[in-house]
Amino acid sequence: MDNSCSIKTVGVPKIHSPLDAVQFIEDNEYVLLNPVVKILPKEAERPLQGVSQHQRPATPIPFDTTNKKCFQKAGPRSRIFFDAETVQVGIVTCGGLCPGLNNVIRAIVNCFYYRYGVKKPIYGFRYGYYGIANKDYISLTPEVVKDIHNLGGSYLGSSRGHQDSKVMVDNIIDLGIDILVTIGGDGTQKGAHQIYEEVTKRNKQISVIGVPKTVDNDLAYVDRTFGFETAIEQAQAPILAAHQEARSVFNGIGLVKLMGRDSGFIALNASISSGDVNIVLLPEAKFTMEELIEYLIIRFKTSEHCVIVCAEGAGQDILPPTGKTDKSGNTVLQDIGLFLKSEIPKRLTEKGIESKVIYIDPSYQIRCCKANPFDAAYSTILAQMCCHAAMAGKTDMIVGSINNQYVHVPLLKATEYRKKVDKNGTYFQAMLDQTGMPEWLDLIRNRKGENQPEIASPEPKLATI
Ligand code: ATP
Ligand code: MG
Repeated sequence: MDNSCSIKTVGVPKIHSPLDAVQFIEDNEYVLLNPVVKILPKEAERPLQGVSQHQRPATPIPFDTTNKKCFQKAGPRSRIFFDAETVQVGIVTCGGLCPGLNNVIRAIVNCFYYRYGVKKPIYGFRYGYYGIANKDYISLTPEVVKDIHNLGGSYLGSSRGHQDSKVMVDNIIDLGIDILVTIGGDGTQKGAHQIYEEVTKRNKQISVIGVPKTVDNDLAYVDRTFGFETAIEQAQAPILAAHQEARSVFNGIGLVKLMGRDSGFIALNASISSGDVNIVLLPEAKFTMEELIEYLIIRFKTSEHCVIVCAEGAGQDILPPTGKTDKSGNTVLQDIGLFLKSEIPKRLTEKGIESKVIYIDPSYQIRCCKANPFDAAYSTILAQMCCHAAMAGKTDMIVGSINNQYVHVPLLKATEYRKKVDKNGTYFQAMLDQTGMPEWLDLIRNRKGENQPEIASPEPKLATI
């Protein structure tokens, strides 16, 4: 196994877990990132040596685990590090909003209180890392959080912007915090790693555990992040509206911009689900205005309307960069939606074609809404896994899920790269089939060689099943 996936602990867990009647997970249980394994050719072809197939003894079948990554399985441990009587927990939410944030906060508070018997009220830092740097917090108890899962947004508030990790760690130590839960995206988890490093420098046994929040579902190594399913569901109404509007005027173009700065998973999945989308524009697939206009002209010969779904990070190369960054240092993107809204009818008019664009940007409505039942359950379980890891003294990691198994991923691994839409994958092909998109876009031409490979483990290993 690749050692870079190993999980750090703040100390040896010696306390018997107060949880009863649960299936404890052991630290040596791992989950394969890619569950597809090949039986070694030599073994598969091994001569039967006079023994018929059904008589052949059931020997273990060696399979090749070269390049296979594994992640530690999440879940309750039989021995924990922190004493529930004295442990002090703090929670922070940073970055943009995402459906499910309040479910995570509520489930963390409830799990620490009800399952582990934590006694001290939990510090809920207000407005992200600003709250830690400025000791701005509220007390969280089950009574306080009992209804927050019915609300969208973040009950604690969120923010962007740099905060000094030394100042934050001064305050974390001053407040007597043993466990810090960081709920946020890549920036937040990079910040969490800095806090971990500062805590380690000071020789403090403080556990830093992240619950990853990215509505775009672009987190490295994990299958799904909470809020993603809700976003796809919420995108359906605007797409339907765009379709109805487009159908109701001559050469109507319904244009919907959806979230997805670097990865177009929401636009891709929402378009497959909808069935009404004709063109999907993703950050992973380059296109030119000439190609887009050419296709619209072809389409208008057979149909008098068109629905375009565009991810916010699509087409950034056809616009001049803004040259701006937000408070956290993230690049401010050009508004591709507004650009297409004005550019498409202009270019069609130049070709003597009348059209009308109906533009819908539902991003804020989507990201601030309450989690759907899938995400509500998923975010709750992730939060519980986070509590188990934290109480066991694990640190510098996030919780996630791989192949329907909950896992621990080191913070640095989780922020190593962004997951991208696989243009050779099932979903991309399903989108092409569903929309009937032609091969004129770079979508097809650049298909090869852009996908993120599974990073090779340093040493080939053998295992048996
Ligand atoms: P989103 O997905 O909404 O962008 P995010 O967690 O990435 O979520 P950011 O605004 O980028 O949101 O970052 C949140 C917090 O993390 C901010 O306070 C920011 O200063 C801090 N942060 C961002 N990037 C880093 C980094 N590279 N190192 C340390 N801290 C960071
Ligand atoms: Mg981010």
